[in-house]
Order: sequence, then C-alpha cells, then structure tokens
Amino acid sequence: MTQKTKVAIVGSGPAGLTAAIYSARANLSPVMIEGEISSTSDQPGGQLMLTTEIENFPGFINGIDGPELMGNFKAQAERFGTLIHSAKVSKVDFSTRPFRLWTTDQVGDLNDLDPAYETDSVIISTGARSLMLGVDREIELIGHGVSTCATCDGFFFRGKEIAVVGGGDSAMEEAIFLTKFATKVYVIVRRHELRASKIMADRAMANTKIEFIWESVVSELIGENSLEAIVLQNRATKETSKLLVTGLFVAIGHVPNTDIFQGQIDLDENNYIITHDGTYTSVEGVFACGDVQDHKYRQAITAAGSGCMAAIDTERWLEHQVTH
Ligand code: NAP
Repeated sequence: MTQKTKVAIVGSGPAGLTAAIYSARANLSPVMIEGEISSTSDQPGGQLMLTTEIENFPGFINGIDGPELMGNFKAQAERFGTLIHSAKVSKVDFSTRPFRLWTTDQVGDLNDLDPAYETDSVIISTGARSLMLGVDREIELIGHGVSTCATCDGFFFRGKEIAVVGGGDSAMEEAIFLTKFATKVYVIVRRHELRASKIMADRAMANTKIEFIWESVVSELIGENSLEAIVLQNRATKETSKLLVTGLFVAIGHVPNTDIFQGQIDLDENNYIITHDGTYTSVEGVFACGDVQDHKYRQAITAAGSGCMAAIDTERWLEHQVTH
C-alpha cells in the first residue's frame, strides 16, 4: 500500500539525519528511507560508519566514534518522530506531484508496482562514496591505517611515514596537507605523469617531505589489526617492493550516489546534484544536501549544516504551497 507523507528524506548520513531532526521538530513527521546494508562499505549512516575516531566534529572534546555519532543522530531524529524505513529507494518519479518513490523491499516488477510513498517534498541526502583500490582488506582497515579523508585523519599520523594513492588534484591536496603531520609522504601514481592541475602538481613536487613513486600500484596491505606496510608493484617491470607506512590515504576520486536520479533532476558533469539558492534543485519541491551536492568540502559538519538548510527550505516551501 502506498503511504502518503509530507517529507521523504532519502539517505541517512549527517545531512539526512540533520534534515530529519529539523523537519521532525517542525511537526512534518518525515519518513527517512535510510538505506540497507549492501556491503561493509555500503550501509545506513553513510561514510562515518566506516570511520573510527572523529576529532573534528564540534561538541566532542575527546572525539567520538563515527558509528556512535551516527547512532546519536538517528536516536535524536527518532525522538522527534522521524519514521525510519530500512530499505533503499529503487526508483523515483519527480515528473508530477506528489512525487513517487519505490523501495528495494517491494516485491515484484518495478514497472507494475504501486509506489511505496507519495510525498509532497523530497530531501535527497544520498551522499557520495570514495572510489577504493579494491585490494584485499582495504575496507576492513579503514580507520586502522587506511583512510579516505586527510582532513579527518591526518592528525593521527603525526611523526609517521605515510602514503597517498592517486595522481589527481585530490591526491596532491591531501599529500600537501598531510606533510603538516607526517615526516614523509609517498605519493603513489599509477602512470608516469599526474592528472593534477599544474599549480597543484608544482606545489606537491616542491614539497621536500613528498616523494613520488611512479608507475606503481598498491597490491597488498600488511598488518594484523592496523596497517604496518604496503606492497607496491611497478607496472612496467612487475617488480614488487615493500613500503613501511602506517597510513594509506586513498585519493582516487569520489562518485556521488545519484544513479536513481538520472533523468529526473539536473546533475553536473560529474553527476553531482546541482543546487541553487541554498538546497533547491531543478525540480520544485525536491531539495538536496550533503555530499551528493558538494564535491568541495565533504565534511560531516558541512553536510549536517546543509541538512539543516534543506529542512528549513522544505518547511518554508511546503508552507508557501498551503498559503498560495
Ligand atoms: P581525478 O581527477 O579523477 O583523479 C583521480 C586520480 O586517481 C588519477 O590520477 C587516476 O589515475 C588515479 N586513479 C584512479 N583509479 C586508480 C586506481 N585504482 N589506482 C591508482 N590510481 C587511480 O579525481 P580527484 O583528484 O578526486 O579530482 C576530482 C575533481 O575535483 C577534479 O576535477 C579536480 O580538479 C577537482 N579537485 C580540485 C581541487 C583543487 O583545485 N584544490 C582539489 C581536489 C579536487 P589516472 O590519471 O591514471 O586516471
């Protein structure tokens, strides 16, 4: 049976859960479609579920574990009446209002099924995922030496030797930032040249703490409970070598989780949702917040801030529909 709601929030990271807290406290009884566990790296709660200690989320003097922080966000959203639905959205129809959403727990052919929800507004907060190398134990070691965020985890590598994988602007930016903490930063590049812009490449090359390792890929991660070393393979000679690093930052790009919105809403050339005037999208009544529309800051606190903005934009937009 199709359920009717005023606000459907798709995605349950810091952006979505903050939007839920705000819209629940505005008496909008939001429904949150939180996602489902598809793999270790794809589960409700977003990227923070893969993080151990978070030291830069304001309000936690001694830091807090990622899953604990997201558990708190969720409990707070539920306390004010958010209804949480554990499934993924499998299909959307934004062509007419109310908007229609289908979910992965519906049984049958998607083309024949009634939607799971009809909703007056939608807040999209499906986030983005870091591309990963695909080496054994990579996901298991996230938060134990492997990281996808230098801003978040650089501090833990003070006085250590570490490595960054990637040859784009992100890898250069992360490597330069990490030299504030690490004694040495190896940058592992799979080709013999960088993809990064000249200015970023020059800056990284000029940094005496950075050493480039060219035409190489990470083939193995070594360490029982945390990373102790990595094995590199030279792509030309096929020779392998061991590099003693306790940190490995994977900076090979991000992909926004927007597959289900293709053709329904305007996306930019990298498939991020285009927002304007705060969190408005190209479809009136559909709002977007967090990393799914932000490839610049990508922080839990900025995602949470934009979730708050989306809830306020949605509330005001709904109010305007009633009064006009
Ligand atoms: P990107 O430009 O797509 O670069 C990804 C890099 O990772 C490339 O060097 C790529 O190698 C490498 N790579 C991909 N898969 C790999 C794998 N499996 N193993 C090893 N290496 C792999 O991504 P990005 O650096 O995240 O940048 C994304 C966009 O954001 C760009 O437009 C960038 O300019 C922008 N950005 C700008 C700034 C800034 O200006 N401050 C900072 C960050 C990002 P190949 O070159 O061989 O493909």
